[in-house]
Amino acid sequence: MAVDLQSVTKRYGAETVVAGVSLAIPEGEFFTLLGPSGSGKTTTLSMLAGFVVPDEGRVMLGGQDMTRVPPRGRGLGMVFQNYAIFPHLNVAENVAFPLTVKGAPKAEIQARVAEALAMVKLDGFGARYARQLSGGQQQRVALARAIVAHPKVVLMDEPLGALDKNLRYHMQVEIKEIQQRLGMTVIYVTHDQEEALTMSDRIAIMNHGKIAQMGPPREVYENPESSFVAAFLGEANLLKVRRDGEAVRGPGGAAILAARGALPGADGLVFVRPEKVSVLAGTLDAASNHLPGQVQHASFLGNIVRYAVTAADGASLLCDVANGAGAVLHRPGDAVTLSWRAEDSRLLAG
Ligand code: ADP
Ligand code: MG
Repeated sequence: MAVDLQSVTKRYGAETVVAGVSLAIPEGEFFTLLGPSGSGKTTTLSMLAGFVVPDEGRVMLGGQDMTRVPPRGRGLGMVFQNYAIFPHLNVAENVAFPLTVKGAPKAEIQARVAEALAMVKLDGFGARYARQLSGGQQQRVALARAIVAHPKVVLMDEPLGALDKNLRYHMQVEIKEIQQRLGMTVIYVTHDQEEALTMSDRIAIMNHGKIAQMGPPREVYENPESSFVAAFLGEANLLKVRRDGEAVRGPGGAAILAARGALPGADGLVFVRPEKVSVLAGTLDAASNHLPGQVQHASFLGNIVRYAVTAADGASLLCDVANGAGAVLHRPGDAVTLSWRAEDSRLLAG
């Protein structure tokens, strides 16, 4: 394993901010820690980096116990939000920094800096200072500095947080490309679910210092094991359901079919993503869920139409319908039937 966190715990006073987190990350993986603000992402990454020493547990890198080794002895590349580029050094000097402090030979430094700057598409920018660069360019300098020494593992803490949406997307693609070209292991921190879904091989969703769920993007998105993960990873319909003998019943007593999960008690929730729900006029096959409702609101988003539909017992669902060729749009007040497959549904604890 490139990175192996073994039950690490960190407390500040009475507060446990990381509670027994274990992560085994193989070489070459793009691994993301995703979670709300304050969930312990930065603290976890800081224990990997060596800025924070865990109260319990071990930090293994490349099979070696690094728990008490200071940051510079760990051989990691880093892009931290608060680890900006140095204003008194120009771009080339900034990028060279990890090699200069190691006392690498001048010729090697020059070659590596040129290579790193080319990789982030900043050739010819070596003599500029931070104040002469845009936010996106500064972020690229930080990235070049992180990879200049060819580290096997690179840690990134919200590296694109300050950039606007277009630039973010651009940098996401570039970071992925560089990671794949160099075969680096990347541990990436973000609170942006879309960013995590597009970039990662695996995602760990953190909540209150613990890993709520971990898996490939599609798995955690389509098969969340808790309402927290379901709601955090995008829009989720979570409807109240109750057990009725062998059956499960939802709004208006409708039978609910869900291929996965179980109710721990007499009641709970059923989960389905808006894009898995069809809005129909007619009747359906018996193997799917069907729920009568009334369109409350239709939001035209261009490529999709998002319907808010009310069902019995005050239940409300979102349904995303592709605005494909020949799509017929429903209007507020229209009576519709909502339908979704049991395979796209999961029962969860309330
Ligand atoms: P995230 O990166 O997910 O937003 P952090 O790891 O930065 O979360 O913080 C997790 C919790 O630990 C927060 O409640 C934060 O206030 C607390 N915390 C972080 N660093 C310290 C510190 N040095 N001293 C006291 N509390 C801290
Ligand atoms: Mg943070």
